Amino acid sequence: MATMMKAAVFVEKNRIEVVDKPIPDVGPNDALIRITTTTICGTDVHILKGEYPVAKGLTIGHEPVGVIEKLGSAVQGYTEGQRVIAGAICPNFNSYAAQDGAPSQDGSYLIPQGLCGCHGFKATAGWRFGNLIDGTQAEYVLVPDAQANLAPIPDGLTDEQVLMCPDIMSTGFKGAENANIRIGDTVVVFAQGPIGLCATAGARLLGASTIIAVDGNDHRLGIARKMGADLTLNFNNCDVVEEIMKITGGRGADSSIEALGLQSTFESALRVLKPGGTLSSLGVYSTDLTIPLGAFAAGLGDHRIVTALCPGGKERMRRLMNVVASGRIDLGLMVTHEFKLDDIVAAYELFANQRDGVLKVAIKP
Ligand SMILES: [Zn+2]
Repeated sequence: MATMMKAAVFVEKNRIEVVDKPIPDVGPNDALIRITTTTICGTDVHILKGEYPVAKGLTIGHEPVGVIEKLGSAVQGYTEGQRVIAGAICPNFNSYAAQDGAPSQDGSYLIPQGLCGCHGFKATAGWRFGNLIDGTQAEYVLVPDAQANLAPIPDGLTDEQVLMCPDIMSTGFKGAENANIRIGDTVVVFAQGPIGLCATAGARLLGASTIIAVDGNDHRLGIARKMGADLTLNFNNCDVVEEIMKITGGRGADSSIEALGLQSTFESALRVLKPGGTLSSLGVYSTDLTIPLGAFAAGLGDHRIVTALCPGGKERMRRLMNVVASGRIDLGLMVTHEFKLDDIVAAYELFANQRDGVLKVAIKP
């Protein structure tokens, strides 16, 4: 077997390059995956622009679809050559955080490096690929705690069909799950990028009966309708809060999902909420947030504001792939472009600038 591989690494602000790196050694609890398809996430664009710090030379990417090349000696129940995915978030499910119900906030693997306190709770640290360890935009990736994080791909599903499961679908669905949706609910989803589209689809699957998708891009609003939105609002053409209050007869939405990470979308998500409603936040914010006092009912409105990081783990991945296998959702719609790993710089350029109707790109090593 070869000893070197190609990998897209963060060099400096505005520079990601494909370089040669050693193929990693496999420890007892790891699995080495040969990547067959991966993709670029909005978070990777933040890394590229220097807005989210990672180590120089780190391989970027956190959405693996591939084949098991080599299994660690302690990993049981899988076979080399098997097609698998792993969640973007790869916690150690033996950790305190995982056993406390928050596996995505597990930083227990950082304790030996002195980067985390004794109980291993560290916000967002369950996200390891392309954040704290080498990621998936490469020919190979090492999956830690493979026993809990590898999920076999059901026969008959293509790479493209499961490419959204590790992150986009898991995150978007979590946004809908956290929104406390009941059959008959009115749900507003702010922003229809890939994660917002999956939140829209998730709201539909959970039984929301009036789903209002909000974005500034008519192309994306068109896809939102295909993914389950009943109504779409372009914020360039109307006052969204006013419009939603009209649609709900002044009652407000049962829940709202924020899928962008801006003050304006967060604030609107609160303003459209009925008293007692749930604001489910998925966005990655980069400034302090201000909560408008009126919409917050001075803190007495029985509102729930919930945040989330993408859930990972093999059971989560199994469920998501089951949704795809059963035909409940067609995520093929979202993979609009394909690039070779060698051409990933061009893929970043297209994706970051949202050119050519791009939603998600398939990257093939
Ligand atoms: Zn992501």
